[in-house]
Formats: sequence, structure tokens, C-alpha cells
Amino acid sequence: MSLVLVKHRLPPVWDGQRVKWDKFEPSPKTFICPPPPPSRCDCGSGNAPLLASGAREPKPGEMFASTKRVMGRFGRWLERPTLVPAWPLRDLFAFRCPDCKADGVWDMRTDEWWTLGPEDYGPQGSERPIEREWSGGLFDLLEES
Ligand SMILES: [Zn+2]
Repeated sequence: MSLVLVKHRLPPVWDGQRVKWDKFEPSPKTFICPPPPPSRCDCGSGNAPLLASGAREPKPGEMFASTKRVMGRFGRWLERPTLVPAWPLRDLFAFRCPDCKADGVWDMRTDEWWTLGPEDYGPQGSERPIEREWSGGLFDLLEES
């Protein structure tokens, strides 16, 4: 009997939404979109990172605001607001260091850069860390240390 450990290539879920990642490819020579990652990895590697894009699946029942054309009176087309079912959006870009294999992800939706840790590769994927403000209590200080 063998034990098979499943490790995800990249976070299967991003902030609660399932993600379909492409395979890692060498970085293109010129960047138009997305912008280049930080020029050097923490490991000191100066080699160009591998790049993979990810498409976020919409949440069940998620809708987008849109417009639809309807024929108005006098034969004129009018734009009317409507809701349409959401579709996957390719707005995550992962950069992998070719030397130490560290991954960073640029979230286009929030324009934030994240360095991934081991916890991000589990079945729950990557969740935004909970940010708390210090309320001035000793308990908060003890919890953070
Ligand atoms: Zn590295």
C-alpha cells in the first residue's frame, strides 16, 4: 500500500473562487500585461521567472451588470441595464522562480502582489490574511508575538 500525497501546482482556490491555472511557461521577452514581477527573487536568482495565468471561476449564481439592446418605440435601439451570468476571468498571474521554485501571484482584480506560502497550496487554496488593527489591549500584543 502506498500513500499518495496530492500537492497542488498552484492554489486551487483564490479568495473562495476556484481557479484554473495554465501551465508554467517561460516569461515572454517583453511584458505588456501583466507587469513584470519584482526584478529579483529573495533567493538572489536573476533568472527570468516562469509565468502562468489563472482564470477565476465565477461563484455559483454570480451575475455581472451589463446592458442589452432592445427595440424601442419608433424603431430605435435602446440600451437597457440587465444582469448576465458571470464567466471565468483570467486575472491572476503566477510567477515561479526557476531556481528556488518560490511562487508569487499578481492579483489584477486588487492590483496586489502576493508571495505564496505552504498553506496556499492546500485544498482551501489561498485566502486573504485577516488584517486586524491593534485595539490597545495586552491580549493583542501577546497573540502577535
Ligand atoms: Zn528564487
